[in-house]
Amino acid sequence: MPLLGLGTWQNDAPEQCAESVTTALESGYRHIDTAQAYGNEAAVGDGIAAADVDREDVFLATKVWTSNLAYDDVLESTEASLSKLGVDAVDLLYVHWPAGAYDPEETLSAFDELYEQGTVRNVGISNFEPHHVETALDVLDAPLFANQVELHPFLQQADLRAHASEHDYELVAYSPLARGGVFHDDVLADIADTHDVSEAQVSLAWLREKEITAIPKATSETHITDNLGSLDLELTGEEVARIDDIERTDRRVNPDFGPDSWD
Ligand code: NAP
Repeated sequence: MPLLGLGTWQNDAPEQCAESVTTALESGYRHIDTAQAYGNEAAVGDGIAAADVDREDVFLATKVWTSNLAYDDVLESTEASLSKLGVDAVDLLYVHWPAGAYDPEETLSAFDELYEQGTVRNVGISNFEPHHVETALDVLDAPLFANQVELHPFLQQADLRAHASEHDYELVAYSPLARGGVFHDDVLADIADTHDVSEAQVSLAWLREKEITAIPKATSETHITDNLGSLDLELTGEEVARIDDIERTDRRVNPDFGPDSWD
């Protein structure tokens, strides 16, 4: 999975979304993140089709919404997602939240079925706490590929990182720019000044240093290429340690159906 992807939540004006996806792919991105709930799968598909990049070179991920997590609904809604995206298979399909109609046995057996069929190349989960992951690992036949969670310098997720490394699955960092929060922090600003780059690049380079995939959302070509530039930014060990030491816990995404332990 490419370590840098393009997030698309709230990039929901169809033409703009398609243009952002095409721009990202033609600039060098090879990973696109969408979801049934974003209402933009068709636009993401249009953006992929318009780009001068082969579909097979793009790592494409989508997510099944909480109301579609009963067995038949997983199968039917995923088929609808593939049709909107204009592809025969996705590279990664996530359970979006352990909420709503989520039932480990029922939901994940449908994911196993899609994995067996080959329409889903990897199985993922999102917003799962370690105890949810352990139940999923017990139930799934397919390998668990990734857990997509909020992760940035102000929510460093030490427990989940340890759990992922112990159980050998990937973490994908959503809201890796803390939904804009990275632009209001003195440590990140200082490091950004030293390298003459943006705070966005510093946050993304820190995640890369931790071997965590990041999917910043960016709409304009300026933001898309700025974030891509993070791949050229090497932080020093001291800079990484300064970010590690930021003592803030700032969760930006916490809907009322999120895990109880977040309250
Ligand atoms: P984010 O990526 O942390 O921040 C996005 C914000 O930063 C947007 O306002 C964007 O503006 C701005 N931005 C991006 N690059 C910039 C740059 N270089 N300079 C200045 N501003 C910049 O937040 P997010 O959208 O919450 O998270 C990213 C992706 O993660 C989502 O799009 C979605 O794909 C995924 N996600 C998943 C879940 C889940 O439950 N699994 C939850 C949240 C997010 P512009 O749009 O104007 O460029």
